[in-house]
Amino acid sequence: MRTTSGLRDVMYAAFFIACWSFMFNNWIIGTYYGEFEMTTQVTLKDTQVITPPAVTGLEALVGNTPLMQLRKVTAGLSPGVQVFAKAEWFNPGGSIKDRPALNIIRAALAEGSLGAGKRLIDATSGNTGIAYATFGAALGIPVTLVLPANASRERLTILESLGAEVVLSDPLEGTDGAIRQVRQMVAEHPWRYFYANQYDNPANWQAHYFTTGPEIVQQTQGQVTHFAAGMGTSGTLMGVGRYLKQYNPAIQIIAGQPDSPFHGLEGLKHIASAIRPGIYADDLADRTLEMATENAYEWVRRLARQEGLFVGISSGANLALALRVAEEIEEGVVVTVFPDAGYKYLSEASIWG
Ligand code: PMP
Repeated sequence: MRTTSGLRDVMYAAFFIACWSFMFNNWIIGTYYGEFEMTTQVTLKDTQVITPPAVTGLEALVGNTPLMQLRKVTAGLSPGVQVFAKAEWFNPGGSIKDRPALNIIRAALAEGSLGAGKRLIDATSGNTGIAYATFGAALGIPVTLVLPANASRERLTILESLGAEVVLSDPLEGTDGAIRQVRQMVAEHPWRYFYANQYDNPANWQAHYFTTGPEIVQQTQGQVTHFAAGMGTSGTLMGVGRYLKQYNPAIQIIAGQPDSPFHGLEGLKHIASAIRPGIYADDLADRTLEMATENAYEWVRRLARQEGLFVGISSGANLALALRVAEEIEEGVVVTVFPDAGYKYLSEASIWG
């Protein structure tokens, strides 16, 4: 009897120590991660090295997208020329706009203009709205989006599924009409809304200055010679362009914009005839070239069939721009971005042929 109860005591003690040590370790390590957002190894004692679990928050998945070399659609270029594209649909919300949307939200939370039940509101033709709705859902921030009533059914369904409030503006007035409607709503109820204003908010281009630009330098090992991209808000071109010019002023920045006010290049803006984005500086790019809708569609189809890349319209437009630059040179590393995948454009039959 005595032996049995001794054994039982030892087992109780061992169980107690195991529980206590489990709780203590979790508490210590949990505190570390919470306070310092450690992403590298945490050394508790000289001999004890603990590798933290992967950061799982959605925000941690934004950026660091792959840089792909395009090999088939570049046939015919000088052998000394390489063309690369950042695969931006790898972002959790599915597009390049996750970068500025998250940075705009973070900046607003930091300065206190968002929070305490205020709704984030903005005018967006799609991807920025999806990004706001994505991070709004993840962070518990209510989101209202104004977009032209002719926005595709896929987009509206995505936004509503993510819990965003959608307000439709006059389709004949395009994104500028949506901007005017947001301004009116904010003027009528300033206490209700935080106007994210992606066209004028410096947190838009700064997202690319602090993430996309450095990634391009790192992924090309500093060899990038040209960066080419079409402009919507111009955030991508302004942010990446500024970073690359500071890194090496010889890097050429090539801006693209649709060749007419009436174009089919979703996400891009004919700046000459539209409300001019406040973040756009016309002296940053070395050149501004025009982009044709049909040409972009053609490159979207070729990217799908020749490279296995099912991308959106502006990716085709950006590729056309990058190739025009690449054709002019004998040596160089030309980089562009592929902002999103093709799924949101499936109902536009004229693209897919
Ligand atoms: N392509 C797509 C699909 C977009 O949604 C956008 C953003 N409107 C762009 C390109 C242009 O990017 P930016 O606003 O940074 O100029």
